[in-house]
Amino acid sequence: MGETMPPAASLITRFAPSPNGRLHLGHALSAIVAHDLARASGGRFLLRIEDIDGPRSRPELAEEFRRDLAWLGLTWDEVPAQSTRLASYAAAAETLRARGLIYPCTCTRSEIEAAGARPGLEGLIYPGTCKHGAPDPARPVAWRLNAERALAETGPLIWEDALAGPQAVDLSGLGDVVLVRKDMPASYHLAVTLDDAADGVTLVTRGADLFAATHVHRTLQALLGLPVPRWHHHPLLLDARGEKLAKRRGSPALAERREAGEDGLMLAEQLRLQICGLEPDAQASI
Ligand code: GLU
Ligand code: ZN
Repeated sequence: MGETMPPAASLITRFAPSPNGRLHLGHALSAIVAHDLARASGGRFLLRIEDIDGPRSRPELAEEFRRDLAWLGLTWDEVPAQSTRLASYAAAAETLRARGLIYPCTCTRSEIEAAGARPGLEGLIYPGTCKHGAPDPARPVAWRLNAERALAETGPLIWEDALAGPQAVDLSGLGDVVLVRKDMPASYHLAVTLDDAADGVTLVTRGADLFAATHVHRTLQALLGLPVPRWHHHPLLLDARGEKLAKRRGSPALAERREAGEDGLMLAEQLRLQICGLEPDAQASI
């Protein structure tokens, strides 16, 4: 008998959809990547509903999402939705505020544009208008990361992508991102970082469109003393014209295909074949 290989560390992955639109094929691929990586390692696959998008959030979609995932043949453990975790976001924001790591900003999008903001990796880079001034207390306030101070506290940081390898944190393409929205106690960046830590996620899987956001998340982990997972940013599915699949370009919702009687298990198998094509080296690097 040969020696038995030690079991691979069991991974905790998650799929974290926002209920502000129906799921489409790109979401299915993302969920399958996360599910299969967890299952292959004997680990856990979590579902977390990211429902803090204010008026864009439609909580009734969460049930549709569960039906879509079950139709694809996936099983999961559901963790609490983001709307139930607002107190933890507020507490973390308070810590950052007390340490002078975030500052209030009253700018509107058009003011940011008018200030000559440069395009960055995730929309415009905030030009720093409110960084040194006292904001008008009559206007709604968002809180932005002071990237300069954050960097001074953390020093150089590295994060590890299973496909792209080690990455040095670089906030220069993102600037002073919003961590607390005007209408919510967190932005996506703060909420997702806190939740992935609270849920014990060890491999954060999501589309490559969120690759740059990870520089912010890794910074927040360092500032808040959170555990550091690994990441797996999967390539995005493209449509026949080579464009990113997106609901706004009219790609059919999973629910529509499901309701039309399509076989979800077959669709999941087709997507797995596409994943192999998109990520030829993924298995070796996990
Ligand atoms: N709620 C985010 C989305 O739907 C999840 C992003 C992530 O996986 O970090 O885009
Ligand atoms: Zn401002």
